[in-house]
Amino acid sequence: MDKETKSVRIQTDKSQFREHSVPLFLTSSFTFENAEHGRALFADEVDGNIYSRFSNPNTSEFVEKIATLENAEDGFAFASGMAAVFAGFAALLSSGDHVLASRSLFGSSHQILTKILPKWGIDYTYVDASTPEEWEKNIKENTKMIFIETPSNPGLEIIDLEWVCELKKKHNLILNVDNCFATPYLQNPADYGADLITHSATKFIDGQGRVIGGVIVGKADLIQEIRFFARQTGPSMSPFNAWVLSKSLETLAVRMEKHCENAFKLANLLNGNPEIKFVKYPFLETHPQYELAKKQMKLGGGIITFIVKGGYERAQKFIDSLKMLTITANLGDTRTIVTHPASTTHSKLTDGEREKVSIYPGLLRVSVGLENVDEVHKDILQALENSK
Ligand SMILES: *Cc1c(COP(=O)(O)O)cnc(C)c1O
Repeated sequence: MDKETKSVRIQTDKSQFREHSVPLFLTSSFTFENAEHGRALFADEVDGNIYSRFSNPNTSEFVEKIATLENAEDGFAFASGMAAVFAGFAALLSSGDHVLASRSLFGSSHQILTKILPKWGIDYTYVDASTPEEWEKNIKENTKMIFIETPSNPGLEIIDLEWVCELKKKHNLILNVDNCFATPYLQNPADYGADLITHSATKFIDGQGRVIGGVIVGKADLIQEIRFFARQTGPSMSPFNAWVLSKSLETLAVRMEKHCENAFKLANLLNGNPEIKFVKYPFLETHPQYELAKKQMKLGGGIITFIVKGGYERAQKFIDSLKMLTITANLGDTRTIVTHPASTTHSKLTDGEREKVSIYPGLLRVSVGLENVDEVHKDILQALENSK
């Protein structure tokens, strides 16, 4: 079976009821056949579920699908994208280690690197997607991991996966890629040699704004360490969320095709609008890394950003003038969402930090949904007009 077929057809074995749709295994623990079976399960001598903090048929099915779509060996599902990001660091790094990270990161990943990991003596250095020549110079003797986001949230910066994999191989580092914006449908970092691929499943993987979830897939030996960490510390995904997310994966390909088609069309419609300073979308020729995006992404993704003339105040007024589009901090929903990163998702950064990752005061992030895109465009046009 090919990958798309597998994402539809991979399913937990049927029970005696011969159900067609996978049931929800809402159980905290699983029974042992006898004392010996319990012993063997705990000794890892036989496969099977013990306790839903460790594994559950619903979470296993979800993980198997993501690992299949990402061409990865194994994985573990988490209660949120941030639990996955944190586990990737906490399970594999020790006091005295150093992380090389791309500067344009999701706000909470930035907080983990700058405020939380330093408490345990784990240091970091930020490098920019625009200056790859600086990366190697910043690798230290104690560097253990490279952590990147491509395309980044909300900067839409692109990092060359082929190049960064060569760099990590040369220095024997672990490469962890937050692949949330691309989804497994548009880009597979494991194909280039990435060790770990992290997702917030809350976004396009759910795709309907219902549940929070996260997942890491990658090399089996690293996942084994992550699984040990997660089994003991308990950030695991709930069976209910896994059940929802596994169903969502059946429609990932068709949803992503439409998100990307709509986003590309909207980016082109807005490009050149006199009220807008700059429209950014990976598959627009004006994107500084257009060639690279074309090389490593199947399509441009569902997110566009633009900078309105008039800065912070105009951006706020624009948001208040919207009639149909949703004002919320989520993304990857069927419904188009507008977010003002400077006042919400990235408000904890200083002005200087925001400037460095291209989060200008007038920047707006649009997660393009599955509506008729002409109507999305119409709402944006009227909000631009009414926020003058
Ligand atoms: C949303 C997001 C996260 C965090 O995921 P949650 O599910 O909200 O915890 C991490 N990385 C990126 C790129 C995101 O967009």
